[in-house]
Amino acid sequence: MTVPARPAPRRVLLLGGTGEGRRLAVTLAAEAGLDIVYSLAGRVRDPQVPPSCRVRIGGFGGPAGLADHLRAERIDAMVDATHPFAARMSAAAAAAAAATGVPLLILNRPGWHERPGDDWRRVPSLPAAADLVDRFTPARPDGNDGEPGQAPRVFLTTGRTDLALFADQHRPWFLARCVDPPTGTLPPRLTVILARGPFDVAGETELLRRHAIDAVVTKDSGGTMTAAKLTAARDLGLPVIMVDRPSTPPGVPLVTGVEAAAHWLTALPTEPTNGFAALLESS
Ligand code: NAP
Repeated sequence: MTVPARPAPRRVLLLGGTGEGRRLAVTLAAEAGLDIVYSLAGRVRDPQVPPSCRVRIGGFGGPAGLADHLRAERIDAMVDATHPFAARMSAAAAAAAAATGVPLLILNRPGWHERPGDDWRRVPSLPAAADLVDRFTPARPDGNDGEPGQAPRVFLTTGRTDLALFADQHRPWFLARCVDPPTGTLPPRLTVILARGPFDVAGETELLRRHAIDAVVTKDSGGTMTAAKLTAARDLGLPVIMVDRPSTPPGVPLVTGVEAAAHWLTALPTEPTNGFAALLESS
């Protein structure tokens, strides 16, 4: 009697760099029949990686490089669990998936929503946020507008690579919080704090008070790890300049939760896709 060959595990490329990406990797590690490769850009000096799967680090060389990688590594499915603002990687993943036929899912956590008491100024991009900061005048303690030209004290939580956008602003004083020290052209009046979330409301409130912050600038990253600053800003009556997310590539299915992403993967048809097809062709 011949024993049927056990099907090779399906190989999944998981584009990570987020808490959701790590949690998905851990969830999938418990699934039989999946071989997960977790991919990072290599931006952070000491990255947090899931303990349970293979990790690769570094760019692919654009959409064509990623398509080559999908073919060479016989990837059967891809999940784009990058940060909602990692738009280049998401565009490349969509293009490479279209070129190779590898199924692609986007995992994007929900954005933040304004609540009563919030004073958010939504802007469509980081340059628009920088423009608003340039024109921003802090309110006086009595709630009325301050003197035009008065120097605001601004808390920047956009990430170190975005600080260059504020580099030509000489009037505001900036407090920036980053995981690694920023490099390149930086604003002249800048203090940097190195820290990695999660942050809590008490700590964020103390930070905003201690530095007499007039406004907070943040990307609409969503999630709980860094949301405490929004509660602290609301409690202190501070405006938040909120940068809207870039749109995701059209036509790519999107889920907002780790469980839904795991379900999409395990529910994929078992017939050969890219990797299996390549195996059959070469046999
Ligand atoms: P990006 O602008 O969309 O990507 C720039 C380039 O970095 C990509 O073209 C790709 O290089 C490479 N890359 C990005 N993510 C990658 C991944 N997971 N694996 C392999 N290569 C990757 O991205 P970004 O905004 O610089 O973010 C870089 C990484 O940091 C992402 O993984 C993201 O999840 C994480 N992150 C970003 C933010 C943010 O605010 N943007 C916040 C937290 C974490 P090639 O073109 O050479 O393939």
